[in-house]
Amino acid sequence: MPVSGLPPYDPQNIFARILRGELPCKRVHEDEFALAFHDIAPQAPLHVLVIPKGAYVSAADFHATAPEAEIAGFWRAVAKVAKDLKLEEPGYRLLANVGHDAGQEVPHFHVHLFAGKPLGRMLG
Ligand code: IMP
Repeated sequence: MPVSGLPPYDPQNIFARILRGELPCKRVHEDEFALAFHDIAPQAPLHVLVIPKGAYVSAADFHATAPEAEIAGFWRAVAKVAKDLKLEEPGYRLLANVGHDAGQEVPHFHVHLFAGKPLGRMLG
């Protein structure tokens, strides 16, 4: 059982299929460690997902088990996406749902990047 309490990694999950090129995505950035693409159902004027190339179910799984180079490479990719999209001013939000109670739908670790308007408080 992975750290977040989700089932073991399913290689048929939708983001794994996007990584393998079996499904399309609107790509924003890709490098050795990460792929970033637009969310199919945006919840903000800009809503991008950043996912690691490795097979990790959740943020908990990723941080507990990924090699440090992958963790560093992934977070550098997140920062690069925000910088390249010129989001540092006026700002952006990063969010990762982990497990059932957070409503994580896709069991491949992903970070949501929201921007494009004042985002207010988001407590669920
Ligand atoms: P979660 O609830 O944190 O797991 O977020 C999953 C996100 O993936 C949701 O915001 C969905 O809109 C998004 N999503 C699901 N399928 C696709 C797809 O095929 N392309 C892009 N985004 C997707």
